[in-house]
Amino acid sequence: MNKEWLRRSIRSFEPYDVPELKEKIIINANESPYNVFDFAEVKADFMASFAETPSFRYPDPFAKKLRAALADYVCCRPEEVLVGNGGDEIISVIINTFLDADDTLLVHAPTFDIYSIDAQIVGAKTVCVNDLPGFKRDREGLLQKVKELQPKVTVICNPNNPTGELLPLSFVEEVVQAAQNIVVVDEAYLEFAGAESIIGKLNKYDNLIVIRTLSKAFGMAGLRVGYAVAQKELIEALSLVKPVYNVSSISQIAALAVMKHSQMILQHNVPPTLAARQYLSEALNALPGVTAYPSATNFLLAQVPDGAAYVKALSEADISVRAYKAAALKNCLRITVTTMEVVKKVAEVFKKEAEYAQGGN
Ligand SMILES: *Cc1c(COP(=O)(O)O)cnc(C)c1O
Repeated sequence: MNKEWLRRSIRSFEPYDVPELKEKIIINANESPYNVFDFAEVKADFMASFAETPSFRYPDPFAKKLRAALADYVCCRPEEVLVGNGGDEIISVIINTFLDADDTLLVHAPTFDIYSIDAQIVGAKTVCVNDLPGFKRDREGLLQKVKELQPKVTVICNPNNPTGELLPLSFVEEVVQAAQNIVVVDEAYLEFAGAESIIGKLNKYDNLIVIRTLSKAFGMAGLRVGYAVAQKELIEALSLVKPVYNVSSISQIAALAVMKHSQMILQHNVPPTLAARQYLSEALNALPGVTAYPSATNFLLAQVPDGAAYVKALSEADISVRAYKAAALKNCLRITVTTMEVVKKVAEVFKKEAEYAQGGN
């Protein structure tokens, strides 16, 4: 293919290749270990709706029933919710609604790649404020950049992927207040944080968009349902860009069944994950040369003396974790926390590797 057929903005992109994983334990994408269809109540509600879903009808473009259920869950009005084909689509819709070519996206770094990739596609530039040592956000630096640049869009990932750090709500509000333009707060992992959502302050801010998803705590990554929460005018603006029939009928009825039982699912899924996170964090931090950073999510970012050696040792134990190319994340592994059984295996591999590196056996 002639590369010049491509938009100039994407000619430098590397092909997105997902290598086929040979490991049995896949803990590289922050997926939940729990299947929503294993809850009898969810399955029954889903199957009942499924039986009444005509395949030839387009789905409801605004997912009316689902947005009402999501609004109920996050305590806002249905007009303040927009449902997307995953949080990823919400990010793309936000970028395409607000950024022109040559506009600026402001993010902290390291963070989720998708924000800057989508910005690059539309020809916008990304300005990063690097974390301080220990992957703590540079709060002063961020506030200063917001005031100095007044970027069209600022994104705060809270808690952050891949570092796990949770920022206090008061700081996030300071950013929203300092910005004259859009501030996106990505709360994909909020259910694991035991912290208050900024959605509670929605009435105060006409420039705030919150991103949430059913992919993580609810274990629905395969069904692709995420949502934006913002004041009505912003939701209407995003609706101008959203693909009309973006969320399939099947995803809508599955998400509706899940939201009907949201408290039961969270009570089942979240506490064991937090206990396993605590176990793994303590086990890793007890090892020489290994640091597991504090996390408010369902994953841990661990820094080791030799990342490649740990990835190999984990792979030999049939475990696949996420490693990084970026210099800021050198020798860092992102480990999804699933069950106690799995984290114990991970901890054992780390222990052997750390002892081996110390010259023991
Ligand atoms: C997983 C994730 C999302 C959304 O994922 P979807 O599966 O597309 O809903 C958004 N932001 C962050 C930071 C994530 O890690």
